[in-house]
Amino acid sequence: MPRDRDDDTRYSWPPLPGSYLLPATVPWDDGLAEHAHLWLEGHCTCGRRLYPLRLLAAHVGWRQTLRDVVPRLRCQVCHERPGEWWLISDPADGATGRIAGGGGWRLRVR
Ligand SMILES: [Zn+2]
Repeated sequence: MPRDRDDDTRYSWPPLPGSYLLPATVPWDDGLAEHAHLWLEGHCTCGRRLYPLRLLAAHVGWRQTLRDVVPRLRCQVCHERPGEWWLISDPADGATGRIAGGGGWRLRVR
């Protein structure tokens, strides 16, 4: 698969699916690339941190799973492990602490 010009990641950016059904439960054992348009949101004591699954897949491998990566992720700012994780469809939804009307979707990971 050809890389984007600015792609300097280890595994390259996975494609975003053209259409996508949000999972009903946390897809713990699917490859990150299968859910490339979702984001992980970590709630750290120092703030809210966002990790696009597409970016994670590009850096750690498309077939790595949430079960693999969530326990290892640390806050980019203070390097602690965030105590709470959500899977979200739109990072803008949580910016104000509310679910955006209609478009928002979030699932508690842990
Ligand atoms: Zn932090």
